Amino acid sequence: MSEDLFEKIKSRIENLRDYLKLTDSEMSLLLNHKRVSASVLKVHGKEYPAWRIVHNNSLGPGKGGIRFHPGVNEDEVKSLSFWMSIKNSLAGLPYGGGKGGVQVNPKELSQEELQELSREFVKSFHEVIGQDKDIPAPDVYTNPQIMAWMLDEFEKIKGHHEPGMITGKPLALGGIPLRGDSTSKGGVIVLEDYLKKKNVEPSKVTVAVQGFGNAGMHVSKLLHEDGFKVVAVSDSKGGIYQPEGLDVMKVIDTKTSTRTVTNYEASKVSNQEILELDVDVLVLAALENQVTVDNADKIKATTILELANGPITPKADDILHANDVVVIPDILANSGGVIGSYYEWVQNRTGQIFEDEYLRGRLHSKMSENFHKVYEEFIENDFDMRSAAYAIAIRRILEAEKLRGNI
Ligand code: NAD
Repeated sequence: MSEDLFEKIKSRIENLRDYLKLTDSEMSLLLNHKRVSASVLKVHGKEYPAWRIVHNNSLGPGKGGIRFHPGVNEDEVKSLSFWMSIKNSLAGLPYGGGKGGVQVNPKELSQEELQELSREFVKSFHEVIGQDKDIPAPDVYTNPQIMAWMLDEFEKIKGHHEPGMITGKPLALGGIPLRGDSTSKGGVIVLEDYLKKKNVEPSKVTVAVQGFGNAGMHVSKLLHEDGFKVVAVSDSKGGIYQPEGLDVMKVIDTKTSTRTVTNYEASKVSNQEILELDVDVLVLAALENQVTVDNADKIKATTILELANGPITPKADDILHANDVVVIPDILANSGGVIGSYYEWVQNRTGQIFEDEYLRGRLHSKMSENFHKVYEEFIENDFDMRSAAYAIAIRRILEAEKLRGNI
């Protein structure tokens, strides 16, 4: 992945400088990280660079996932932790932004090596994580089992139970059912709220989904259940396309049994082609930098839902905006994940057990409330929805920093 992701973030903040009347010290606060921890994890004679980074913690402890991917580097983890600060602030949560990552291809590791790597991560970073310091969760190629190993290692080191130190855990270790699909559910809630504003019925909407992991698979299922026509999906091996609509449950079966959607009987499309299909809604649920200056002009969808973090570059954003493509930005669209994590953390800390239905209701009202906040700022100004969301989030972080006397 690109080495200059954080440079792109800087240019986004620069663009908002006048609108938010940001001073030099406010700019510096937003563009510097509170804590950067780095290590090299050793597993069976091999070395894997790893990071845990907190961008800002004025609103509460750091919060954000851990990614296992060969493309992970410090610039990426810095960028992802920045986005978590913005996302948590926008969502109104009592969290700052944190993120972790290990530069590894987990597909090349045995289960035993994966467990050892997860435990090594905690051995390296246990001083800087914890329920009141910085709370990890799953991200790309990490899952509830990995969270379980990390929790176990942490509790062994500390000598006490602390399930709130990590979220996205299996149910038996303090996880909650909501967390499994809360990212996608949240995305569907904001997409449907937006389409209501446009008076568009789900049954009239065709959708293509890039990425078919946790976020992409659940969103395809939920959209299908709500009557949308999901016509194309893809994973790292490529994509499938059926203009009359895919049988999403069968695609999920194919993915589960053969580890790729490409074995489903349908026309094949590449991961580039899926982005350019003639659909109404494009859901980006894979990785960063998928829509760039090279392909932004070729996007035919009129609405993009960003479930992945940072899938559109700033220059591509400008092109999409000029072409009247509305982007529901990552920091709003995928915030259901961290809202789900928040309820898991609250349950772990208070010892209370909330009913799933109650939490789903809470997720719904929180996502809708956040969508309407962003939508109002968006229609009052001649800028894109992302700038509106950033503006709201930055104001809250700076207010907290001011109250603390830091600026
Ligand atoms: P995951 O590891 O479960 O799935 C990733 C998916 O992307 C896989 O299907 C993989 O095959 C596919 N993929 C990888 N490279 C691809 C490529 N070049 N083109 C198309 N597909 C490709 O990860 P996830 O948890 O679903 O996360 C996906 C994105 O959503 C990430 O950007 C992540 O940061 C973001 N996100 C996830 C959550 C969550 O709760 N899972 C929350 C917030 C944000």
